[in-house]
Amino acid sequence: MAASGPQSSASEQAWLEAAKTFIQQTLCPSGKEPNNQLTQSVIDCVKMIWLTKGENQGFILPLSYSFVSVQTLKTHQHLPCCSHLSWSSNVYQAWVQRAGPNGNALPREELLLLGTLTDLSEDLEQEYRSGNLYVKDNTGILDCELIDLDLSWLGHLFLFPSWSYLPPAKWNSSGKGHLELWGAPVPVFPLTINPGPLTPISVLYPEKASLLLRLRKKHKVSESNLAGKLVRLSALVISQNKGYFILTLGELSPADSQVGSQVSIIVQIPAQMVWHRVLRPGRSYVLTRLRITKTRSHHYYIWTTIPSSDLMLLRPDCVQELELERWFLEADLRPLPPPTLTESQDRMGQEDLVRDSRVLHYSGTVTDVLNESACLYILDGQLILCLAYQQIHDLRRVIRPGVCLELRDVHLLQSVGGRGSRPVLALCLHGTILLRGFSHQKPETLSPFQIHGASLYEQLVWEYQLGLPLYLWATKALEELACKLCPHVLRYHQFLKHSSPGKPSLGLQLLAPFPAVLKTACIRHAHSEILEEPHHCPLQKYAQKQIPYTFPTLFTLAKEGQRRAWATFDPKALLPLPEAAYLTSSQLNRHLGWSWLSVLPSTFQPAQVLLGVLVASSHKGYLQLRDLTASLPCLPLTKNSQPLADPRLIGVKFRDGKIVMLGGCLVRAEKFQLVIEREVRSNFPSWKELGMADFIQKKQARVYIQFFLSDALILPVPRPSIDSVILSSSPQSDPSCPEESHLGQSRLFLLSHKEALMKRNFCAPSGASSELPDPTLSFHVSGSWLCGTQRKEGSGWGPPEPLGVENKDQKVFLIFLGPSVRWFALLHPGKVYRLVAPGPSQTPVLFKAESSSGTSQRPLELAGCVSCLTIQDEWTLELGRSQDIPDVLEISRALPESSLTHLLSDNFPDSLVSFSAEILSRRICEPPLARRRIQPGNAGTVKACVKLTVALEMADCEFPPHLDIYIEDPHLPPPIGLLPGARVYFSQLEKKISRSNNVYCCFRSSTSMQVLSFPLESTIRDPLPHIYLAELLQRGWAPLQATTSCHVVFVFSLQILWVCTYCTSICPQGRCSRQDLTCPAQVAISQASIRLLVEDGTAEATVTCRNHLVAAALGLGPSEWTSVLEYARGPGKVALQFRGPGAQPESPGKIHEPLALFLWTLCTSPSVIRPIMLSFELERRSSDVTPLEPSRLQQFQSGEFPLLTRVNPRLRLVCLSIQEPEHPSSLEAFASSF
Ligand SMILES: [Zn+2]
Ligand SMILES: [Zn+2]
Repeated sequence: MAASGPQSSASEQAWLEAAKTFIQQTLCPSGKEPNNQLTQSVIDCVKMIWLTKGENQGFILPLSYSFVSVQTLKTHQHLPCCSHLSWSSNVYQAWVQRAGPNGNALPREELLLLGTLTDLSEDLEQEYRSGNLYVKDNTGILDCELIDLDLSWLGHLFLFPSWSYLPPAKWNSSGKGHLELWGAPVPVFPLTINPGPLTPISVLYPEKASLLLRLRKKHKVSESNLAGKLVRLSALVISQNKGYFILTLGELSPADSQVGSQVSIIVQIPAQMVWHRVLRPGRSYVLTRLRITKTRSHHYYIWTTIPSSDLMLLRPDCVQELELERWFLEADLRPLPPPTLTESQDRMGQEDLVRDSRVLHYSGTVTDVLNESACLYILDGQLILCLAYQQIHDLRRVIRPGVCLELRDVHLLQSVGGRGSRPVLALCLHGTILLRGFSHQKPETLSPFQIHGASLYEQLVWEYQLGLPLYLWATKALEELACKLCPHVLRYHQFLKHSSPGKPSLGLQLLAPFPAVLKTACIRHAHSEILEEPHHCPLQKYAQKQIPYTFPTLFTLAKEGQRRAWATFDPKALLPLPEAAYLTSSQLNRHLGWSWLSVLPSTFQPAQVLLGVLVASSHKGYLQLRDLTASLPCLPLTKNSQPLADPRLIGVKFRDGKIVMLGGCLVRAEKFQLVIEREVRSNFPSWKELGMADFIQKKQARVYIQFFLSDALILPVPRPSIDSVILSSSPQSDPSCPEESHLGQSRLFLLSHKEALMKRNFCAPSGASSELPDPTLSFHVSGSWLCGTQRKEGSGWGPPEPLGVENKDQKVFLIFLGPSVRWFALLHPGKVYRLVAPGPSQTPVLFKAESSSGTSQRPLELAGCVSCLTIQDEWTLELGRSQDIPDVLEISRALPESSLTHLLSDNFPDSLVSFSAEILSRRICEPPLARRRIQPGNAGTVKACVKLTVALEMADCEFPPHLDIYIEDPHLPPPIGLLPGARVYFSQLEKKISRSNNVYCCFRSSTSMQVLSFPLESTIRDPLPHIYLAELLQRGWAPLQATTSCHVVFVFSLQILWVCTYCTSICPQGRCSRQDLTCPAQVAISQASIRLLVEDGTAEATVTCRNHLVAAALGLGPSEWTSVLEYARGPGKVALQFRGPGAQPESPGKIHEPLALFLWTLCTSPSVIRPIMLSFELERRSSDVTPLEPSRLQQFQSGEFPLLTRVNPRLRLVCLSIQEPEHPSSLEAFASSF
């Protein structure tokens, strides 16, 4: 059958020669004569396998195959491969198909591998056998895995007809590849078949073996042989370099297999560790020469093997049951009571949501790797497999998609959470994992978080003793964190480093700085976990859906903020009826123009933890939290209203004039506010259309974060990688004291004022291009030097240089532009900073006034500064430490504030004022006063303006005055944090006086602000004070709003109008009356007002009520009021005037219209002239600087005599609400009883 032509025989000869050489070198025992018999046997063996294959194409030798030694595989085979001598190409193709559609199958090489199977590693001296298997030849040794081992194979030479080789993965620290041996190896020399013992072995079956264990004290038990069916196999546990496992034998027939008739045997002899690979549950075995021993934890007595013990398959004809002596048979045959641990029992059932897992056997295929380091896989596409609770050792390298596993006594947990809703299979030490088939696939390229941190994950299970739900959560959360920070902020290995005592891992610190979160499930004792009945382990009882919190990316957080901004945007809720019904179109749309909401972490389910790196933007000038996905503006605050002022927190460091470290610290906050400011441009005609989204023209939301530093964990970002790069590039410098940091100069200054961050024009220095440069984002600060320049001395600063005559004036003006704007958020008035210029000093005095400054001199003259400096990019700032500041200087740290009289007087218009205030409201409005230039038909181009109404914080003022602050371009959008409820310090606002004599303020380029506190989470305001009207006259600063019980004595006037919502012209019959037809509107709204005279016995006041409050003043219900308004629609206007009190009532006879007549009657009736509870606001605003009307003399007639008396001016109030007095019914009852 061989087509042996001369050509083929020549190549066969060559192949045979090569084979001989290889076999002599690689397989013959070294130092011995060439062994021809071995060579022939090997070639025969190869031939035999080759010829069993169908398609050998007539060649009797596998000429295309070449022999490969262990060493060659290890050194030259860098890619995973497989070799199948006996496989036809059809078989291989079918095999490739099974690897999946991705074409991921292992590539086929034509290699012949021979070697000795052994469980002895290279390290013979150590005598340490972990149960691993190896293939060995003269050139080396290679780890291997085998599906079904036979103990008789060990130590023999085999041809491996089918195998795959996986070189070490790059991240594999052991650096060892391994072999996966498919199918049974073919022995080169026939194996001697063990004929079995000559005489049957006397054995004990489990029932009697356990009895013997119980009665060991009464009767000395010698060595025994045990036989039975393997019912359970524990994991191979390795602790302190010693391994052991426990197997449990049951009765042979199923009827007898109860708990009581099982016996456990511990195997802890190193040479027997390999038995763990041989034992298969369901098969029956005989173990010889067993003794009884105590376990290491001293809880149990157990059968154990000795070095001379044997393991063999049970053959019924070779054993006979040992007859026990009579006293044994008489003994109580009750099953052995299960050993228990009281401690573990107490821990059970403490939590309500705790469930029991089910223990079962499962066979399946791994389809995906979730996280190799954390031993998490996907089984059959639907189950999560967690092997972290076992030490899976070298099995880890075999487990990849495609591998078939049998899991014995595995726990099934459901609804665990942390990684979706998939059920989880998890093995404790009680169960075991059996390899059922190798993967056909090449190992996948894993993402970095899947390959780093294995020892950290092990720590979570073995040191922190996390239960499975928390473990799944922790691994997921660490992945989330890694995605946010690695590899640009931190390297994966830095982040997922193992914790050592006193040096906790950064990953763990960020995951749970308060270890209480990682509440341990239970303390594990390996022996009890395997042996105890009932079974008890960390996987047995579990709490469902245990997800303490998650770490969203900043991108997700920003997106969620945007989503919530518009999901919760409801114009009807922002403008509730009845107020909205009376607003004109432009009022309505301005009200909707700006709104905000704050989202607290507790509203997320599960709670979210903020994590990012705090950086100062050198483009925008504000602070940001940054991760790899996005950055979000943020506003950190200390608890005592201090802003973030320590530049170390943003940690900018320079070496050789280059930034080497940007981004100072990691911020982790469980408490924070996600603030969303909404801006909406709309053209709603009236309140009726508020539900229709079509009228919204443009909308945008600004998302940022506010948090208190005291609520945050702040950790410096470790940067060993960067530092080491820098240092290694300059080998001369000693790493412990880099030379550059010992050079530099610095000067202390007290910051007295900071100006706005805005685009400014800078004059080009003379000689530069004549083109006008673009305005540059910049800011200025002014302050004063506290001492002369200091030079670096060691790690501190030397004494300050004496000041020259020209430097006597200590004032300084610092200009920040370009990248230095990043300091903006950290510089605050009243604080001392040290300006540091790093590196060797070229100029003798660096911090000297600039002669050719790029700034025009005018601001300097204004500020009265002599010294003017432009901050260089590489200069840094430090917060001045208290010991640095000269004692002689009395530094006022309080923020400068203007006095109340300065603020609220008309004497100092256009001056600059500073104060702290609480923001009461924030609105979009038209610019104030002269800036209003509305052109008809061009209303859309009017620049919007932000109006803040604030309550001033004055020390000696019980009822703070209110003031309006306007922010216009170029100060728009306003800085973050200007929210209603926030307390803010405003510095150097421009004070103005309006045409109506009200004081207001405007943002100017000199203005800066600093948020002192965030809005309170609950916005419940105190109820209005209840006062007598006369109190409003007595006090210097009366409350702006209050409640009083008073009596309506007279109605001055009443007016009801229907007006156009666009141009506010009167609309008879609901149509705009504008004649020029420029107004297209067909929408009219009603407006109403009434003026009343009230008195409470102490003083009298005129009260203006508007719109829906008119109905309350008239005592009309909603439906009555609606009818009144509808009657007024026809004429478009109804107005009534009444003569002053005391005068003769006007005759109703002159009024012909029924509605006017009705209202006239109503206004003079007791339903209006009645006692009321009035909540009001003073009409005169606290910012009004019109001189107060003095009290005047008035003549009264008292009998016959005229009486002249001094009368206070009448109070003018605006109605906020009218309620009927509290006990009108009792009063009526009282009155009717007479
Ligand atoms: Zn368990
Ligand atoms: Zn109109």
